[in-house]
Amino acid sequence: MSDLAGTHLGHYRLLRLLGKGGMAEVYLAYDEEKQREVAIKMISGHNVDYLERFMREVAAVDKLTHKHILPAYDYDSEESWHYLVMPYIPGGTLRELLEEGPLSPTAALELLEQIADALQFAHEQGIIHRDIKPSNILLRDAHYAYLADFGVAKFVENSNRLTQTGTLLGTPEYMAPDLAEGPATSSTDIYALGIVLYQMITGQLPFVAETPLAVYWKQIRDQPQSPSQHQPSLSPAIDAVILRALEKDPHQRFHTARELAEAFRQAIEKPEHYLAQERQRLRSRLKQERKAATRRPLRLRRPTPPSDPSFLPEATPVAVKTRERRPVAITLPPLPIRRRAARSNDLETPYPAQPLSQQIVREQPRIRRRRNTMVVSIVALGFLLFVGLPMSYMYYVFETHRSQATVLPVSTPSIQATQQAPQGQPQTPASTGAAPTITGSTPLLDDPLSANTPGRWTEDANHCVFASGSYHVNVLQTNFLQPCPLLAPTIDNAAVQVEVSLRSGSNAGVMLRVQGEGFYDFEINNQRQFFLRRHDPGKGSSYTSLIPPTTSSAILPGGLPNTLLVIANGANFKLYINGTAVGEATDSTYASGQLALAAGTLAPLPGGEGSFTNFKIFKVS
Ligand code: ADP
Repeated sequence: MSDLAGTHLGHYRLLRLLGKGGMAEVYLAYDEEKQREVAIKMISGHNVDYLERFMREVAAVDKLTHKHILPAYDYDSEESWHYLVMPYIPGGTLRELLEEGPLSPTAALELLEQIADALQFAHEQGIIHRDIKPSNILLRDAHYAYLADFGVAKFVENSNRLTQTGTLLGTPEYMAPDLAEGPATSSTDIYALGIVLYQMITGQLPFVAETPLAVYWKQIRDQPQSPSQHQPSLSPAIDAVILRALEKDPHQRFHTARELAEAFRQAIEKPEHYLAQERQRLRSRLKQERKAATRRPLRLRRPTPPSDPSFLPEATPVAVKTRERRPVAITLPPLPIRRRAARSNDLETPYPAQPLSQQIVREQPRIRRRRNTMVVSIVALGFLLFVGLPMSYMYYVFETHRSQATVLPVSTPSIQATQQAPQGQPQTPASTGAAPTITGSTPLLDDPLSANTPGRWTEDANHCVFASGSYHVNVLQTNFLQPCPLLAPTIDNAAVQVEVSLRSGSNAGVMLRVQGEGFYDFEINNQRQFFLRRHDPGKGSSYTSLIPPTTSSAILPGGLPNTLLVIANGANFKLYINGTAVGEATDSTYASGQLALAAGTLAPLPGGEGSFTNFKIFKVS
């Protein structure tokens, strides 16, 4: 389209080009009849696809009268031009605003509430927007937003989701994973709004890659980093809101756009209250999932097999300065199942270690491999026979192990003290009630970690700190693993349980059988993964992975407390998270040693914090 500035369309005089979208040009124009400035969106009617989209937008805005949906004044055509006349919105788009940097949560909330209200109104009228993104949010000023561009909107009654079989429409950075399998829904719009919110408060997109298809695969397979990984000032409650909006499973997301905005308001105003509610919700969800799994023990609900070798490199966060894509049609080829034999290099995660006595273990950036989270295949029978049944069996085995873990033998004393326990501090306190995941045993050590009264734990002013009723392991620089050791007793065979909240940073958990530079390390990370690894003396930055980083829905996101339990018995290690068996490994390198609580950071995170409570040690035989 050549520059049409200066020409007339009816009583509209085109003044200057405001912007170009995927199909249209938008001009600032002067309405000579009504004597006001307007914006005119125009397309050439020669392109049938564009004309169809244009007409859809005209129909949508005609149906939607809402104070935060950009209205239309007029629609007409002249020669081959079709045009839509709208109010001129001088403040630019949200995308332009975000190019100046992220917004404060309060500023983001103000815009979110308006857009969520507009979006929900559209949903209530049976219209799915399908292209929610910052460039489709126009700003009158920093405090007033309009939802615009219903060009790819879908009217629920006509389900033309696919432009052709296997082809999706939208902007990949904002497209929900469930669009690969089903139609656009209000939930896919809510997911996109969650990404916009992520972008508003962090200035980053959660999933970026070179090609639209690569981005969309990340939407399907990768877990987003918590917003606080980008902006450490953001609270765990805010993380929890965003991570819920970006759940892969649409049923776990907020049910309405307003619910998302309301949760975000609560996370800002009453973070503790919101976290408590969210924790409760996640716990009852876990319970329901477990119940459902017990009822249908042989139906395949894919567990997280800890040794699945199919991992992909971690998503690298990239600044939002990348150009926002226009809506594209993506044709999905069958998703490959990347499987290959594990190589010895794969087992090494480059956390260099120095002696524990030095208190700081340097971490290097590492390439983490991810397992595929989705298999798209039409060979259903083959899948059932060769994958479904073996997986069902694995699932059955996991379930069996979980129930075994609830009753631990208490007969053999096996925790050895290398130092005398402080006077008056019994090592086996009276039972304080059953541990959440171990019933029928009295802990040998039961420490709420609210204070270091017996002087049992390492304590200093900065790294290992008792405050606000919990034990905080602070990592004060990037690429570090910070241990805070239990001074006594040393542990060989035992079940060790602790509640950890990964408040910021990359990972946190328990180090076991620490002997100088040699130890085992069971941690969860900010990708909702857990891992078990071993470090050996003289190995510098290399670790041996016993269970590679593995995504698990048993892990509660967003800084919520997760109960880790490791049962170390001889060469056998069994791992549980929130009562769910997540993995098992065998390794006989170290038989005993110190125990430490640890937290780590990986670049670009400048620091991190794990807070720990309710530490317990149980005997095993
Ligand atoms: P398309 O539907 O082809 O993607 P858009 O509706 O996104 O086109 O418009 C393209 C650009 O034009 C927008 O990104 C925005 O910068 C500008 N624009 C659109 N409508 C208005 C308006 N009413 N007032 C001011 N600028 C507008």
